[in-house]
Amino acid sequence: MSPQKDFYQVLGVTQSASGEEIKYAYRQLARQFHPDLNPEPDAGEKMREINEAYEVLSDSEKRARYDQFGTADGPQGSPFGGGASGGFGDLGEIFSAFFGGGMRAGVEVERGPHRGSDLRANARMTLEEVATGADREISVNRLERCATCNGTGAEAGSFPAMCPRCNGRGVMRQVNQSLFGQFIQEVACPDCHGEGQIIRNPCPACRGNGVSRVSRKLSIRIPAGADDGTKLRLSNEGEAGFRGGPTGDLFISLSVTKDQRFERDEANLFTTLYVPYPTLVLGSTVAVQSVLEMHNLTIPPGTEADKQFNLRGAGLPYLGRRDKGDLYVTVKVQVPKKLSAQERQLLEQLAIIQNNGSPPVAESKKPSGKKKKGLFG
Ligand SMILES: [Zn+2]
Ligand SMILES: [Zn+2]
Repeated sequence: MSPQKDFYQVLGVTQSASGEEIKYAYRQLARQFHPDLNPEPDAGEKMREINEAYEVLSDSEKRARYDQFGTADGPQGSPFGGGASGGFGDLGEIFSAFFGGGMRAGVEVERGPHRGSDLRANARMTLEEVATGADREISVNRLERCATCNGTGAEAGSFPAMCPRCNGRGVMRQVNQSLFGQFIQEVACPDCHGEGQIIRNPCPACRGNGVSRVSRKLSIRIPAGADDGTKLRLSNEGEAGFRGGPTGDLFISLSVTKDQRFERDEANLFTTLYVPYPTLVLGSTVAVQSVLEMHNLTIPPGTEADKQFNLRGAGLPYLGRRDKGDLYVTVKVQVPKKLSAQERQLLEQLAIIQNNGSPPVAESKKPSGKKKKGLFG
């Protein structure tokens, strides 16, 4: 624990302050620094100090000990609540104090119909499946409305009855005395747990829950053009709601297996095509593999190595659209590692011609160094 600050200083009161003054000072500070009201990052720490000081100074015994020894056995437990004299952190309580008490400090009680949870699943696809779209079977384990009782939770022929304790409201008012006066809190009815109704003859299939857990295989269609991180939402394929509430949704996160042949940017693809040197020099029409099909690429005579061509519409489909991205093809020179005797002869002749009639001198000292390098340099 950090060294204690002067509690009087923390609350901004004098050592002779009355209990009323201390209480007033605390309320003002709580309104200023309660982390639910104050977004500053150190508001929580400040509120902790304020609570700590108040716990001691509001208790005459602890205050006397603090005045005498400069310490009071520190407050135990959570800084925001707890103990017999604690609970100062509850905002509803502080608010009802500000508004003179009697205000409803609402406690969220889930009652009546409510929506089922959303579910999440993953699916992986290849680039070919991205191009065409894909069908998948997804296994989900989910709550579904009980078919036996049709979701009521009551045995066939019986119906849930209104809870007599809360008259069907599901919540009960509870009057609490607090330091700041009386306040009224709504709590879930202990008999019906906030449902407002009681099932005397529970459905044996779902034990009165109205829902039961079922394993299902769902056939889904993944649209073309999906990408890593694409999420599909399947409405009403999540968990069943309670008491007739709506069903949640199923979200499927997609991931795409990397295809070594292509780089991908949304619907555009990038690939590299190796062609022999004469193809670039003389020009030609060559076949390029896209994901699903081949495309013809016309290489004009005199094309530089590493030039990038764009085949419009040869990429992937855009998700949810009819048009497609492009295939960008970078042509690189294919350097043969092995030559036939004829190829060698022709290349050597070419090298001599390009060197004004003399055999080229290899740049490296090795005699075998007279190679293609000189040709393409
Ligand atoms: Zn049932
Ligand atoms: Zn009840």
